[in-house]
Amino acid sequence: MGLRPNLLTRRTAGVASTTLALLLSTAAVGVVPAASAFSAAPTEVCAEPADVHSDARVKPGGEAKHEPNELTLAETREREADLAAALRERARFRTGAGASTMATVTVPVVVHVIQRDSTRAGGNIPDSMINSQISVLNQSFSGATGGASTAFSFQLQTINRVTNPSWYPIVQGSSAERSMKTSLRTGGKNTLNIYLGELSDSLLGWATFPTRKLNSMDGVVVLSESLPGGTATNYNQGDTGTHEVGHWLNLYHTFQGGCSGSGDSVDDTAAEASPAYQCPTGRDTCTAPGTDPITNFMDYSYDSCMYQFTAGQASRMLTAWNAYRAA
Ligand SMILES: [Zn+2]
Repeated sequence: MGLRPNLLTRRTAGVASTTLALLLSTAAVGVVPAASAFSAAPTEVCAEPADVHSDARVKPGGEAKHEPNELTLAETREREADLAAALRERARFRTGAGASTMATVTVPVVVHVIQRDSTRAGGNIPDSMINSQISVLNQSFSGATGGASTAFSFQLQTINRVTNPSWYPIVQGSSAERSMKTSLRTGGKNTLNIYLGELSDSLLGWATFPTRKLNSMDGVVVLSESLPGGTATNYNQGDTGTHEVGHWLNLYHTFQGGCSGSGDSVDDTAAEASPAYQCPTGRDTCTAPGTDPITNFMDYSYDSCMYQFTAGQASRMLTAWNAYRAA
C-alpha cells in the first residue's frame, strides 16, 4: 500500500517549471484547531514523540515545538458536542424536505501568497504551482487518487500576492498571523482562504477547524514549497494542502486519541497509537482490528505514501459542512 496509484499523473500535473533544489525535507503537517466558537484557543498539546520527528509534521531537519492541530481528549469532546449542537440547531430551522443538506459542494478558494520580496526564496512562487495545488485538491477529494469520493471540489477564485516582510515567515499563533488574516481574509464561511509562505517552526502547515461563528482566523496555512513542484523534499506533491483542508472540513488526525476511545470519530479508519512518518507499510500500533492508516491524508506520512480519505471521513466532512459552512 505504499505508493499512491496515480503518482505519475500527479507529478506531471504538479511540477512547476522552476523547481529548485530541495533543501527542506521533511515535513510535518500540523494542524491547528481553530478556536473560534470556543472563547479561548484550545490548549495546544505536543504530540507524543514519534518515530522520526519529534512532534509535528515538519520539514526535514526541522524541529517543531508542537502540533497546532493536535487536540486533547477534552477538546475533541467539546468539538463533538458542538457539532451535535450545530446539527440540532440547523434541524430546528430547517423547513421542508429539500432545504436540508448539500450533496455536492464547490468550494471557492482564495489564495494569498505571502512574500518577503520578489525572489523565489522570498516566497514568490509561480501561479503554475498554485494551479497544480488546486488540481491536487480536486483529485484527492474526488477519489481519483484511490480513496473515497467526497462531496467536495475546489474552484480557484483569486491569487492575491502580498509583499510584507513582517508577515514572513508566517509564525503560527503570532500577532502577525492574526494581523495578516484579519487584513486579508475574504468571503463567507464557505470560502477557503489559503495562506502560502515560509512557516515558523519548520511546520508544513496548520488549519482551523470549522466553527459556528465565522472567525477571521479561519483558513489554512501551507508551506509554499510543499506545493506540487516545490522544494520540500518528500512533501512536495501537494498533500499538505489536502491534509490541512481535511482539518478545515473537520477531520482529525487518524491517530487522534490513540488506541482508545472514539479516536478520530470516524469508524473506518483503524485506530493508530501515534503518527506514522515516511511510509511504514504494515505498521500496526493498536490491538484493534486493522493496520495503521498510513496511506490516509490525515496521517503524517510522506506525500508519496498518502493518497486517500475513507468513506467515513467523506461523510464526516459533508456533515460538518452542512452544520458549519453551508450558506
Ligand atoms: Zn494535521
